[in-house]
Amino acid sequence: MTEQPASPAFSRPRGIFCNRTLNLRSIRAIGYDMDYTLLHYHVALWEERAYTHVKNGLKKIGWPVDELEFDADLVTQGLVVDTELGNVVKANRFGYIKRAFHGAKPLSFEEMRDAYRRTLVDLHDSRWRFMNTLFSISEASLYLQLVELLDAGKLPPRLDYDHLYKTIRRTLDEAHLEGLLKAEIIADPERFVDLDPEVPQTLLDQKNAGKKVLLITNSEWSYAVPMLSYAFDPFLPDDMTWRDLFDLAILGARKPVFFSEKAPAYEVVDDNGLLRPANGSLEEGKLYVGGNATLVEASLGLRGEEILYVGDHIFADVKASKSVFRWRTALVLRSLEDEIAEMEGFQSDQERLTTMMAEKEKLEAQYSALRLERLRNDKGFGPQTDRPSKALTVDMQALRATLVELDEQIRPLVQTAGKLVNENWGPLLRAGNDKSHFARQLEASADAYTARVSNFLAYTPFVYLRSERGSLPHDAI
Ligand code: IMP
Ligand code: MG
Repeated sequence: MTEQPASPAFSRPRGIFCNRTLNLRSIRAIGYDMDYTLLHYHVALWEERAYTHVKNGLKKIGWPVDELEFDADLVTQGLVVDTELGNVVKANRFGYIKRAFHGAKPLSFEEMRDAYRRTLVDLHDSRWRFMNTLFSISEASLYLQLVELLDAGKLPPRLDYDHLYKTIRRTLDEAHLEGLLKAEIIADPERFVDLDPEVPQTLLDQKNAGKKVLLITNSEWSYAVPMLSYAFDPFLPDDMTWRDLFDLAILGARKPVFFSEKAPAYEVVDDNGLLRPANGSLEEGKLYVGGNATLVEASLGLRGEEILYVGDHIFADVKASKSVFRWRTALVLRSLEDEIAEMEGFQSDQERLTTMMAEKEKLEAQYSALRLERLRNDKGFGPQTDRPSKALTVDMQALRATLVELDEQIRPLVQTAGKLVNENWGPLLRAGNDKSHFARQLEASADAYTARVSNFLAYTPFVYLRSERGSLPHDAI
């Protein structure tokens, strides 16, 4: 973590963490994604509605889904759907699969080894579908439940795991786009939005500090306008509205294509959402639909490294803006709050675990040395000692017994560590002792990450976020 802000409210779960040094003083524009970035939803409630809409869509095509119920904890963000074998898996930073579910049941160690002996997760291959955001939870949990129906022969014949995934995806896309799901959210924002009054204040500070504040969301005009009015307007001074806060607001942005193609922009010209093609540069204070990142840079007269983009989608927000435009990037990851709190709660156990693992390593080294000594003595090669084979064997047996006892103490702690945050999958950013595949992508594309946009409030618009010295296995400290 970098520079600690002066605020007494500061705590690690509200920290900003930095992969690459980021000086906010040299950032001239800060762009924000909307869903799960500026607006946080009650995930289980939002996803339950999405799940139900997809279920209804599948019911219409005759699938027997009536009995299915949404289980918000069955999957988490950051997992990977294996569309070939009908599994959801968690991989470590190298792509090795460390945990897997088929249907609603975990694979045993042996089943996992047999299935993935020669297989690494490679997200370039369409076999693997990464769960980029919290919006993926309805999709993956329904997938696992439908895999069980498919295995039981209750879904149409000739449907395979890949086709099953594509059908769910298509139905979920329709649910997001057709308007019924969004209409439910717009009608009852109190139920679905987890308000954070400090977010508008954070953006106001940044704007008054001379930065251009941008909105670049994939959400369409008809959804974004009521949601932002609800979440921002009551917390802005006087008659200021969210429209006054953003120097440039782009809706229906179609990220990640926003960063790779040159789609035209349309200006929203009235309160009914009437559009008119925008010719030339985007003008400050106006609302647009579509457009592209090149146009944003040209209109603001800024280079990539002067723009910070803040979003929750590891691919569409962070990787896409970083890899092509070299925008500075920050990932918003609300579950980090729980993850840090749970890790802190486990800290004393973790210290015990680390101590016992060091002890285990020492005993194993002693055991290996005795074994080699006995082998050399028995076969008469290499340096010889005067300790008889039998005595060495007795010492080895004693060491082995101590190791078995130690393992018995280690095992429950490792099991508890693997169930932190989510009983089925453990912490988002870790896979066993290693970093998770999600953590690897976070490192590769996000300059900084934090649980919420409002964490920038305590850090101020002038903060210099410095990355830590990277650690390597051979480091002494
Ligand atoms: P943003 O995060 O502000 O860019 O907006 C995300 C938008 O994408 C929201 O309007 C979501 O409803 C929509 N969205 C999220 N997941 C899906 C999906 O799987 N299919 C289609 N639209 C989606
Ligand atoms: Mg988003």
